Amino acid sequence: MKKKRLFTPGPTSVPEEILLEMAKPIMHHRTDEFRAIVKEVSNGLKYIFQTENNVFIIGSSGTGAMETAITNVFSKGNKIAVVCGGKFGERFAEIGSVYGLEILPVEIEWGKTFKAEELEKLLQENPDIKGLCTPLCETSTGTTFDVESYGKVISKFQDVILVVDGVSSLGAIPCYMDRWGIDVLLTGSQKALMLPPGLSFISLSKKAWEKTENSDIPKYYFDLKKYKKAIEKDDFPFTIPVSLVIGLKRSVDMFREYGLENIWSLHSKRAEATRKGIEEMGLELLSEKPSDAVTAIKLPEGIDGEKLVKNLRTQYGISMAGGQDKLKGKIIRISHLGYMDEFDVLTAIIAVGICLEQMGYKCNLEDGIKEAKKILFS
Ligand SMILES: *Cc1c(COP(=O)(O)O)cnc(C)c1O
Repeated sequence: MKKKRLFTPGPTSVPEEILLEMAKPIMHHRTDEFRAIVKEVSNGLKYIFQTENNVFIIGSSGTGAMETAITNVFSKGNKIAVVCGGKFGERFAEIGSVYGLEILPVEIEWGKTFKAEELEKLLQENPDIKGLCTPLCETSTGTTFDVESYGKVISKFQDVILVVDGVSSLGAIPCYMDRWGIDVLLTGSQKALMLPPGLSFISLSKKAWEKTENSDIPKYYFDLKKYKKAIEKDDFPFTIPVSLVIGLKRSVDMFREYGLENIWSLHSKRAEATRKGIEEMGLELLSEKPSDAVTAIKLPEGIDGEKLVKNLRTQYGISMAGGQDKLKGKIIRISHLGYMDEFDVLTAIIAVGICLEQMGYKCNLEDGIKEAKKILFS
């Protein structure tokens, strides 16, 4: 018998108390009982998003919310800038192209960031840009982007909106939608919110809503006007995954109980311990601005990252993520998202160290553990 552990940046492990909630018999979604739950869930999501705006719930994975963002706030032929520093930024660009937008990719080296000053210059040089799409945390490289500063820049441009993919970061690292001037913020259920995959969430500022009025991109299932009308009655336009919403109720309650800022600092501590432990072991981080949601580690020359991921899973039941696209085989990524504790952090570090040793790379595992322990338990 092998114990399975998830250290992937989605899906993440789901707390037992949420699993038990979701195991209850299915409730009909057009009932007062369910609507009462939806009302509380909606308020909880506003807290997690740090917004006064509605947060819409959609039955889809995170990418569905990305598609919702593009199709609702832009129009055909609109020019948008997209921060392409990894797989998920590129996905925004791909979705935009599919719907006939003109994409101005901001190509940055994977693992590097994009400065707010450069954004300001870009917007001045391209007065026809209608929006900037960026992840808050680029999961493929474990890099955080300075969305707060982007918000300050964009607020000076009346016709530009800031669209932020918070799928791997919302509920894990600081993000204040309203205060930072984010116009569209979205996430999915299977990362920091500690739920199974299947729900996505999206919220729009007033500035973004005004853009939806003129949007000429075809959409049906993802038409936010339908969701807006329904949510006024704590309802949905289509059958929502009922069990997931019931689980979500427990998740938002947990966010309230622990406090969003406390949860952020727990992630920060886990990430810090992982980074320091890994560096002490003699390995290097990929990102110049590492995210507290996920840590991407460069693998030593001669180590096949795909094989490392496979060994961890088959030998020890431990799931971690490898590199995607151009980073395939070159990195390993450890998630700090959601339902984790100090001992999980140590487990992850030790597992990587042991597997590397078995593959012939000698690292200073003991030093790494010592360093991580110091950060976790002091
Ligand atoms: C996981 C993730 C997504 C969405 O992926 P889905 O598989 O569609 O849920 C989008 N953006 C980022 C940054 C992610 O980490």
